Order: sequence, then C-alpha cells, then structure tokens
Amino acid sequence: MTGNRAPGDLQAVVVGGGQAGLSAAYHLRRRGLRPWEDFVLLDHAPGPGGAWQHRWPTLTYGRVNGMHSLPGRELTGADPSRPSSEVIAGYFAAYEREFALPVLRPVHVAAVREAGGGRLAVDTPEGTWTARALINATGTWERPFWPHVPGRETFRGRQLHTAQYPGPAPFAGRRVVVVGGGSSALSHLLELEGVAASTLWVTRRPPVFREAGFGEVEGRGAVALVEERVRNGLPPRSVVSVTGLVRSEAIRAAEERGVLKRLPMFDRVLPGGVAWADGRTAAADTLLWATGFRAALDHLAPLRLREPGGGIRMEGSRAVRDPRVHLVGYGPSASTVGANRAGRAAVNDLLERGVIAPAPAAALR
Ligand SMILES: Cc1cc2nc3c(=O)[nH]c(=O)nc-3n(C[C@H](O)[C@H](O)[C@H](O)COP(=O)(O)OP(=O)(O)OC[C@H]3O[C@@H](n4cnc5c(N)ncnc54)[C@H](O)[C@@H]3O)c2cc1C
Repeated sequence: MTGNRAPGDLQAVVVGGGQAGLSAAYHLRRRGLRPWEDFVLLDHAPGPGGAWQHRWPTLTYGRVNGMHSLPGRELTGADPSRPSSEVIAGYFAAYEREFALPVLRPVHVAAVREAGGGRLAVDTPEGTWTARALINATGTWERPFWPHVPGRETFRGRQLHTAQYPGPAPFAGRRVVVVGGGSSALSHLLELEGVAASTLWVTRRPPVFREAGFGEVEGRGAVALVEERVRNGLPPRSVVSVTGLVRSEAIRAAEERGVLKRLPMFDRVLPGGVAWADGRTAAADTLLWATGFRAALDHLAPLRLREPGGGIRMEGSRAVRDPRVHLVGYGPSASTVGANRAGRAAVNDLLERGVIAPAPAAALR
C-alpha cells in the first residue's frame, strides 16, 4: 500500500464494509471528512457486499425479507431471480465507487486498543492506524452460533450451519433435521422440500407467526425491546425473538402441505440421528443448524467494553465505556434499515461531541 493508503493517524476508522460500515462512511464524507486523509474503511472480505456476498446462491433477491437501499443511492430494477449475493455485491461495489469511499480490502482488523493521547490503535497485518474515533460495523456472519447439545460430536453424518449452507442440491436423498426458529430455518425447509428424502423441523420455542409484514409501528416496538437490553448492558437477542416470523403466501402453502410441522428441540444427538428425553428418536444423515449468529467483536476485547451481563452497554450506537467507539449494525441496528440509521447517528454523535471535525473548507476538494 502506498501514499495516504498507508497506515497513519486519522480522525476515524470504520471497520467492516457491509451496510452499516458503508452508511457510516457515506455520512463521514457528507459531513466534511476527507476520504483517506481523515478516515478509512477497513474490510477483510475478499470483495464488496458485506455478509451478502457469502449468502447461498438460491437466496435470490426476490426472496430476501426487505432490503433497504444505502443512503444516497437507491437500489432499483434488480432482477428478483438473481442471487442476492450478486445483486447486493454489485450494488455495494458501485456505491463505493460513486461516493469514492476510502475502502481498503482485504484488511483484517486483529485488535483495537488504547493508544494514549485520546487515540485508539487499530492493529492489522498491514500496520497500525490510530484514530480519535472507531465506528465498528463488523456484523455477525462470521460468528455463527452452535448451541451445545450432548452427543453432538458423536454424529456420524454431516453437520453444518446456515453460514455454510450451499443451497439444497447437495442434500438430495438425505434425511435432514433443520434446527432453529428463524427465517433462515424456514428458508432452508422450503428449499429442501422435494430435494431431501425428508426434513424434520425442531425449535426450542414454538414459532410465532405474524400474518402481516412489519409496519413502522411494529418495527419501532421491536427495536425498542432490543435497545432496552443493550442500554442495560445485556447481549442483544436474536432478531426473530422480537419480530416473529411473517406468514407469507409461500409459508402458508408450505404449512398446508405439512412441510412446517415443528417438533420441540431434541435433547441428545446420537451417531445416527437425534433423541428426545421421552424416548422418541429420529434418524438423520444431516443436521442443519439454523441457530443464528452473535456479534463479531473479538477484536474489541482489549478495550474491555463488556459488562458483567456479557453485553456492551450502549447509548444509541455509542459504547458507554468508551465514547470514542460506536457499534453500528449491532443489537437494535442489526437490520439494513437500522444499519443505515446507525451509520448516520454515529457520525452525528461524534461530530456533536467534538471527537471528530470536518476538514477546513479550504482542504476540501
Ligand atoms: C441469511 C440472512 C438474511 C438476511 N436478510 C435480511 C433482509 O432481507 N433484510 C434485512 O434488513 N436484513 C437481513 N439480514 C440481516 C442483515 O444482513 C444485516 O442486518 C445487515 O445486512 C448487516 O450489515 P452489517 O454492515 O452490520 O454487517 P455485514 O454485512 O456482516 O458486514 C460486516 C463486514 O465486516 C467485515 N469484518 C468483520 N470482522 C472484521 C474484522 N475483524 N476486520 C475487518 N473486517 C471485518 C466482514 O468481512 C463484512 O464485510 C439477514 C441476515 C442473514 C444472516
């Protein structure tokens, strides 16, 4: 890396190039911070698209739950039959170019630590940046959650998580147990119908379906519930625990065909299947864990942001223990619309509190 792309002392570093990081970078630029001179965005993904670039090819754009465009440029006219991974990676790539965002990739942020003098140090294999503010936007995709279930290590078949799901084709003729009560589990079950020899759906709690999509009011209510948790320093709950599942036409039809009969969570994994405490068993070749994700925040460990409750206490998107740090796309802002808003709010907050400042007019090109 050369010139002003080399590590140096900046006003702000954004970590992560998904929806939340791009929104933050857009607003930093819009509010007068100069790309490269005043801020950079470091992303360790191979290309643009954030987590979307990794999603399975059969998750077409027409099947996503409602993707909000990034600020300043609508995503229009996308072909609903194309994989969302391609559509959104292409859209993000064009967005980065259009707004000349200072994205460096692949650059892995290994650790963020105190640097003294009001600065944070951002350590990467390319060197260390220092900055007055850190906007962290590292998402959850890279921390798939696997619940502990006795016997899991004894299973002789294949086990995989949603994060590794390649689409239905490799499951032809298999007996698949799908674990989890969120929209990924539903999506897997619908895709595997007629491909797998059988599917069995298990969830910890009975799924709660909503008849209609999420309106403004319901959306605000769900966000407020997660906000309250993170304000109290608790880890955020899964999105589905506050939103419930939308009973779309496809879901209703699948219910009528008997594809979505749900069983309670099993108590043990056996070499050839799963077992419940009451003695019931089910044979299986594949366990597909659609059991969600956790925030990918290991690189922030040196800052000791966590509370005894295990979460990071937040005021809006600002970390209470270190107000130079904002977490966007975390907890209440873990949706495309939330990520957009959090990017703007983080930049506003850092400017208002004087942590960062626009470049003098003369310096702006
Ligand atoms: C299967 C699935 C479907 C979804 N569908 C929808 C939907 O339809 N509508 C909706 O609103 N939301 C949806 N969501 C949620 C949505 O994806 C997220 O809320 C949002 O897109 C996440 O954006 P983000 O910027 O927070 O994170 P990501 O898109 O995950 O971006 C994080 C970026 O940070 C990078 N990164 C991580 N760690 C580091 C590090 N240490 N150093 C450098 N870079 C790092 C990653 O490589 C990645 O590029 C879905 C989620 C899943 C799992």
